[in-house]
Amino acid sequence: MSTQLSPSPACVHIGHYIGGRHQAGKGSTVPSFNPASGEVIGAVALADVHEVDVAVQSALVAFPAWSQTPPLKRARVMFRFKELLERDMDKLAATITREHGKVLSDAKGELMRGLEVVEYACGIPELLKGDHTEQVANGIDAWTMRQALGVCAGITPFNFPAMVPMWMFPMAIACGNTFVLKPSERDPSTALLFAALLTEAGLPDGVFNVVQGDKAAVDALLDHQDVRAISFVGSTPIAEYVYARGTSQGKRVQALGGAKNHMIVMPDADMDKTVDALIGAGYGAAGERCMAISVAVAVGEATANTLVKKLAPKVRALRIGDGMDDTIEMGPVVTSQHRDKITSYIDDGEAVGAELVVDGRGHRVTGCEKGFFLGGTLFDHVTSSMRIYKEEIFGPVLCVVRVPDFASALTLVDQHEYGNGTSIFTRDGHVAREFAHRVQVGMIGINIPIPVPMAFHSFGGWKKSLMGDHHAHGPEAVRFYTRQKAVTQRWLADNESAGAEFAMPTH
Ligand code: NAD
Repeated sequence: MSTQLSPSPACVHIGHYIGGRHQAGKGSTVPSFNPASGEVIGAVALADVHEVDVAVQSALVAFPAWSQTPPLKRARVMFRFKELLERDMDKLAATITREHGKVLSDAKGELMRGLEVVEYACGIPELLKGDHTEQVANGIDAWTMRQALGVCAGITPFNFPAMVPMWMFPMAIACGNTFVLKPSERDPSTALLFAALLTEAGLPDGVFNVVQGDKAAVDALLDHQDVRAISFVGSTPIAEYVYARGTSQGKRVQALGGAKNHMIVMPDADMDKTVDALIGAGYGAAGERCMAISVAVAVGEATANTLVKKLAPKVRALRIGDGMDDTIEMGPVVTSQHRDKITSYIDDGEAVGAELVVDGRGHRVTGCEKGFFLGGTLFDHVTSSMRIYKEEIFGPVLCVVRVPDFASALTLVDQHEYGNGTSIFTRDGHVAREFAHRVQVGMIGINIPIPVPMAFHSFGGWKKSLMGDHHAHGPEAVRFYTRQKAVTQRWLADNESAGAEFAMPTH
């Protein structure tokens, strides 16, 4: 289906935010859409290498003073930013829904999860405290301190235009770094609202900058000699590219990639609660979540039969429409190209013999005929060799795979190339414990469908879902955005002498 390219009367120019000011941008633009109406609502500036350099220089100039600002004063800016986020919550959520398509309650949910990272960042004076050992040797003390890196950059995906940037910049800034954010060109406006709120909160100019753009802007950040660290979240092929290109130039890089999250349904699970959990986790945000459940692994034929029988009517009954309407449960997907890609996966699953229980292709929403909608889709009898099982679809498509026992379920999850999240629904504590202990995945839910760690823990997958050593937010963010320095000191009295020591010092 072709994309409607005519701009709506409300079409606005979306530029950069550099040195505490909005900047229009000089180069070309790409259109952004309201996925519910299909209308062009924005012309998004694409930064070139020169504009990226201006943003990095602005961050570089701001770094010395900001990194020397006491942590408590940095925390106070974060605290004011948190209050402003609360004040503007409705406006921010409406911006997210208009550009992304997710329902308003979900947009507020992602803002709250991001705000919780800001709250965690308010504790930075405590988090930056180092270790101290008195008398490591005679008359010698030692301690460690953590210092900011310099200019850090964030490159973020379309699916969480608020939460994912807030996994990054609040902690980076609170640690004393300055920051350049390159949001997704598909929903670019929330980042600009954050920038203005940070300025209002008292953040000095240049500490937080936004450049809009695509691959050219990303490459300019990866290649810039003054960018010390890159946080990336997006699809695995781009994560691998960013990790390789960034680390080859000596940068610290964390690159979070794609996912295919399995939920194991044991025969003893409470089936009604399991089905409710699967509906939310599979179809919430139209499946465009890196922690969405896209595979339900039913243990035993009877479990699978009951599960599919109970799921199907609920999938058919999903209330689909414009996310601005608060009676709606599932909005559109982000672009018409993405809808077409999801549709082609459904075509493929059907062609290779998966049972298409509910078909969401061609779904129409009255009054939103040009919107990028799909209905919920449910496949049964999916096998591990099918593309709909192996690849990340990132849409409202749930695949049921049937396995005979728990051991086969565990093997299935472990053999998948992604390892972001997984969950098990059961009443058996021993099975749940074995699952959490053995499974090769980074984030585990036990009777929890979307086990996203809270702000004061850290978020990250295993295998092809994360490249690098550090997870996002929580204590891992302090490690990622700082370097450790170890100090060993001796103060001899005027009448003491250590003498020349030729051997390796021992105590
Ligand atoms: P994407 O990889 O297409 O884009 C991510 C970012 O990379 C964007 O800012 C984009 O402008 C930039 N980019 C795109 N193509 C590029 C290229 N060729 N070279 C350099 N930069 C490029 O991802 P998306 O479609 O925006 O987001 C969806 C993906 O993100 C899914 O795969 C999802 O699983 C993943 N995701 C992962 C997590 C996680 O925590 N693991 C969280 C959210 C989303």
